[in-house]
Amino acid sequence: MSEEQAIDADENENREREELQQKLIERREAALAHVVKFGDPVLKSRASPVTEFGPELREEVERMVHIMQDGMGVGLAATQLGVLRRLLVFQAGSDNEPSALINPEIEWMSDELAIAEEGCLSLPRVTMDVERPLHARFTGRDVDGEPVTIEASGLEARVLQHEIDHLDGVLILDRTERKQRKAALRALRAEESYHPPVEDEDDHGEELREPRTDA
Ligand SMILES: [Zn+2]
Repeated sequence: MSEEQAIDADENENREREELQQKLIERREAALAHVVKFGDPVLKSRASPVTEFGPELREEVERMVHIMQDGMGVGLAATQLGVLRRLLVFQAGSDNEPSALINPEIEWMSDELAIAEEGCLSLPRVTMDVERPLHARFTGRDVDGEPVTIEASGLEARVLQHEIDHLDGVLILDRTERKQRKAALRALRAEESYHPPVEDEDDHGEELREPRTDA
């Protein structure tokens, strides 16, 4: 291969990568168009328990998983699609399979807490630091109506708590410190972005911070 051909191959590869990137962005935007955003009163409403387990529920779970994955989220609550039923899907980490949890309850939470920056598919362009129990045990039903128990830590425990909050009409805005809440609200109203200030790298507290989540 000549130098020129090598350059052409590089350019083709770059173009393909850019096209793929563009496709992912478009798919994400299409998915996020289904998600209820800040300001909609449904986000402050409490969802009702699911009582019927059947093909309709299975279809709803599949729809939610697609929207979560295309939206590049790690979790999604039915409330975020304007459906006030106690139903959530989550996928904490790309190695994990997506799962659904229906009528979830938090059975136990650790005294040990962790702070991490969280995003929310319903709160575009903003993230906030949220302190939550590091470990938790959740109960509920799977899509077939069978009882399930989930012992979760770290990101998974965080995502599940975030989604259960949605089912109770609670947002990360209600869980963050006053200063960040005010700044995030201002950004949301102005359609601008907000991210909490990054701590000094020398600060050992930084090591406890987990990767950012959109849920
Ligand atoms: Zn959320």
